[in-house]
Amino acid sequence: MAKLKLYFGLRTMDLFKINELLQELYQKYQPCFEGQKADYIPELSKANQDDFALSVMSVDGESFNAGATQIPFTLQSLSKPFVYGLALELQGRDKILSKVGVEPTGEAFNSIIELEKNSHRPYNPMINSGAIAICSLIEGEKSNDRLHKVINLFERLCRKSLQIHEEVYCSEKATAHRNRAIAYLLANFNIIEEKSEASIEDLLDLYFKQCSILVNSTDLASMAATLANGGIQPNSKELIYSKEYNRDILSLMFTCGMYDTAGEWAYSVGLPAKSGVSGGIIAVVPGKLGIAAYSPLIDGHGHSIRAERAIKEFVSRLNLNIFS
Ligand code: GLN
Repeated sequence: MAKLKLYFGLRTMDLFKINELLQELYQKYQPCFEGQKADYIPELSKANQDDFALSVMSVDGESFNAGATQIPFTLQSLSKPFVYGLALELQGRDKILSKVGVEPTGEAFNSIIELEKNSHRPYNPMINSGAIAICSLIEGEKSNDRLHKVINLFERLCRKSLQIHEEVYCSEKATAHRNRAIAYLLANFNIIEEKSEASIEDLLDLYFKQCSILVNSTDLASMAATLANGGIQPNSKELIYSKEYNRDILSLMFTCGMYDTAGEWAYSVGLPAKSGVSGGIIAVVPGKLGIAAYSPLIDGHGHSIRAERAIKEFVSRLNLNIFS
């Protein structure tokens, strides 16, 4: 009975097909070597271009996997929607909306000019300026307390303890002139409270560490499945996000998660999604599935090419577009 309810709309036949389909898509797209590894964070260019993984988790916690699903990679921008949800839980919607907007930009993830005209809020929390402002809203006595809250969030989403990739973190910290410039701009407009050089650097540190948390594609699917399941982690049944904030996260992933190709994703895939430059993409089928894919070769928008193609075909083969 529970199964029937949870899988409403996804035929039992489809569920049996998932493993088979993931294997098929893995075989089909693994030989694709288009794209390049991100290298503006030098450490990311050390990823293995052969690696490709596909994972799905249903809202009742069933896990489906194909390929290199145990290969770890850093979250990068995949962290943004989840930390946004944490900020909503900690501060409430009004406070968050006073600092970060909800409009898509049509610009790249690291756009530096995209602050709203009068309020100077970043347009949305999925681009770097918005995500850095959101970090500033994760309060804690000491910087370690803030980091602890963030890591603890992902540990609850993935149901295991997680580590930060020190080399990726140091590599981003050493080369993040653009994100540093964004943080100073946010300080100038009082979007963030941090004003001293030391406190701004502390804030950026939190952001870089959040981006450097190591997961694998199975973990990503579990994170996406929590969003598919109304904010409740499917295996632990822990409520991570209240219903209304979970909905906010999904709305923003739908309109802004894929940056300057968000419109194309909405049109062709019809699902909330998010990508990260390390090569992960997640898509959420509300009430049904969390979908995740990883491969480090990315296109000019920062989206993994194999991951994007495989997810698009998976969604179309199972007719999962929410508008179909
Ligand atoms: N840490 C990366 C940055 O700020 C995240 C970008 C991304 O994954 N799109 O540039």
